[in-house]
Amino acid sequence: MARKATARTATKPPSEPPACPSCKGSGQVARTVRVGRRQRVVGQQEGLCLTCLGSGLDPNT
Ligand SMILES: [Zn+2]
Repeated sequence: MARKATARTATKPPSEPPACPSCKGSGQVARTVRVGRRQRVVGQQEGLCLTCLGSGLDPNT
C-alpha cells in the first residue's frame, strides 16, 4: 500500500535568537553598588548589560 507523502512545507520552529550569556536575554544585570573608600556594599541595582548593551542578544553570534 503506497502512501502518498504529504508535501510538508518546512515547518521548522523559528529558531530563537541566542540570548546574551551575561543577562540571559533580559538586557539588564544586577549590579552591586558600592560606596566609599572601603567599597561598602549598599545594595544592588539593575543596570544595563554591557555585554549586549541592553539588547539581550548574544553579540558573539
Ligand atoms: Zn546582555
